[in-house]
Amino acid sequence: MSPASSRAARPLRLAGVSRPRPGAPAAPRRFAVLGAGGFIGSHLVPALLARFPDATVDAVDVNLDKLEVRAARLERIHARLDTPGLVDDLTRRADVVVSLTALCNPALYNTRPLEVIDANYTELIPLVKACTARRRWLVHLSTCEVYGRTAVSGHGRVRPTERMSEDGTALCLGPVHKERWSYAAAKQLLERVIWAEGQHAGLPFTLVRPFNVIGPRMDFVPGIDGEGIPRVLASFMHALMTGGDLLLVDGGAQRRSFVYVDEFVDALVRIVERPRACQGQILNLGNPRNDLTIRALARALAEVYRSRRPDRPAARLRRVSAREYYGAGYDDSVVRIPSIAKATRLLGWRPRLSVPEMLPAIVDDYVARYQPIIEARLEARLEAPLRDAPGAPARLGATGTGGGAA
Ligand code: UDP
Repeated sequence: MSPASSRAARPLRLAGVSRPRPGAPAAPRRFAVLGAGGFIGSHLVPALLARFPDATVDAVDVNLDKLEVRAARLERIHARLDTPGLVDDLTRRADVVVSLTALCNPALYNTRPLEVIDANYTELIPLVKACTARRRWLVHLSTCEVYGRTAVSGHGRVRPTERMSEDGTALCLGPVHKERWSYAAAKQLLERVIWAEGQHAGLPFTLVRPFNVIGPRMDFVPGIDGEGIPRVLASFMHALMTGGDLLLVDGGAQRRSFVYVDEFVDALVRIVERPRACQGQILNLGNPRNDLTIRALARALAEVYRSRRPDRPAARLRRVSAREYYGAGYDDSVVRIPSIAKATRLLGWRPRLSVPEMLPAIVDDYVARYQPIIEARLEARLEAPLRDAPGAPARLGATGTGGGAA
């Protein structure tokens, strides 16, 4: 992937940047960030390097292309988590282990559930055990999906508009044949293991439940840097950039609360700065004020894209059934609004950016990264029939016009 777009993704100004507090415990000297090449990892690593000027970061992933930052205090480690000796080395060196590795794409939950369960549960157990044995602080990114389809109070009352809270809301998933919930079940069980390790075996931990974090570098564009169905933001950007329809699953009336990645990462940094307050806690991180329908997100993205590229075809929204789009076994969350009272109290954190404020930087980043590639492919495809016409010069090698995003 081209790093050319870092200019386009101008950092947005954040309110209340965190400062070290007098009397705080010694700052960590070394972090291990597992999954550092993913969307959140690629934003978190630069933030840790900036906020902890004396610390080294071991950034681990199978692919670190998205991690565009370079620094002497950054160790780029290209490896799978199950590489022999890796977890042992990392937990020996690091004071804080941030675990981000996951298969966290809803299109996979009902199509590759065994891999989803392994990646989100089985393969992480050795890491949890190593952190317990060495007493390393494990900051693990879980998911808001553990709450299930809708907010249900701890007493079983269904309150669809209720905010989801860490210590009061019940975790109610759909039936087993709705394999969508394989991810949430794996994440929930890992949460329970981490909690028990903390209560009964001395593991210092913090569990984070992100609620629909969006921003530049999220996911992939099919045919360019990944295959399959990405999450909703990248799916809609893909459609806009290629002139395809924005597909609204079951009509797009379902709601999500979106939080901007810089604000989310700011909260993660604040957690790391506050071991006393945050160890042993589960924290929702999201923006309850940004609750909107998927249809509204599609319209807002289309409007911003149109303002950037008025020359491109106008966006079209089209309804598609969940079964058609994701296949059998998919299920959906109707509404998902976090209570962030605990995060505000413990971290002094209050996300401020509205969806209209965050979309321009996101759209600019996708356009800078992908639009030139998409347009080059479209041009190549348009030219191909001329080249292939009788009497046209023979092609030299592959044209790369088949399939893909264009
Ligand atoms: N969705 C959609 N069109 C798409 C992709 C997703 O309507 O092209 C819907 C999806 O069914 C879900 C919501 O958008 O209800 C959010 O999807 P996302 O992939 O971000 O994952 P989720 O929030 O469900 O974890």
